[in-house]
Amino acid sequence: MLRISFIIALCSVLSFNLNAQAPTKPVHPNPGERVLVAPESVFKMFREAGKSPTNHALTAMEKAKVEKAFAVLPPLHQKILQKNLHSISFMDNMPNTALTSPVPTIDSTKLFNITFRAEILNESTSEWATQKEATCFDQTANSNYQVKIEAGSLDAFLYVLLHEATHVVDAVLNITPHPDNKEALVKPTLFTKDIWHKMNVLIPNFTDSLLEKTRFRSGKKVAIALAPDVYKKLGKTPFVSLYSMASWFEDIAELETIYHLTKKMNQPFYVTVQMDNNEVFRFEPMMHKLVKRRLRHLKIFYAA
Ligand SMILES: [Zn+2]
Repeated sequence: MLRISFIIALCSVLSFNLNAQAPTKPVHPNPGERVLVAPESVFKMFREAGKSPTNHALTAMEKAKVEKAFAVLPPLHQKILQKNLHSISFMDNMPNTALTSPVPTIDSTKLFNITFRAEILNESTSEWATQKEATCFDQTANSNYQVKIEAGSLDAFLYVLLHEATHVVDAVLNITPHPDNKEALVKPTLFTKDIWHKMNVLIPNFTDSLLEKTRFRSGKKVAIALAPDVYKKLGKTPFVSLYSMASWFEDIAELETIYHLTKKMNQPFYVTVQMDNNEVFRFEPMMHKLVKRRLRHLKIFYAA
């Protein structure tokens, strides 16, 4: 079931049952304190991908960062996590940033574990986002180019938690469709309508030959000299980031995360392409008409 391509991703959302963990219930009334060792099935998956992940025990300072981030989540996230978050886990030597996976239950309640790469606890959002974006570009022919993301100095963990928690909310409420098969052609929701044809296939209007070559669509890097064109084209879509284009699940997680950070927490979010340390292009998604038009679909996260 697991496609190796998940390794390239910011995060993965597993839609199949992980059987290695016994049916159980959340362990603590406060979701931010539900820290457990990750399910064995998650360790196994990463070992099979060639990594040697180990459990990371949080320091007192890291624990405080985690609890602080949970406290500023949108109201609907807080409500859903209270009921549907089984546990959070931290690992060293994890191949990707985070993984949200279902935990088997004895009734129909959907429960999830979110496993985070512990290293992100030491990074700011700008540092982490810039490193992630750099993986999209091949810099060998043009070492004088740089792509940077200015996303403020708050903890990267907050960004990643917002993103993963949005996957949990989406999985519980089906804000995007959750078919068993990625090839399934299903009735769109208000969020996916007129943008997505299938889970990871865009409608023709938003299918661009250059954007299709970018890493989260193709698995490959593009030459960094093309970065201004990439972001120019991204600016003509309803997407807030290159990673949004990976699937409709990543689309909603990225849109809500960047919306919450910029509009509710007054953080910046823009990408700059620099040549010889001079800015040659800036992509600021929240300024774009097609992105603004989608913000009405995010009201649900604040009405809880
Ligand atoms: Zn994700």
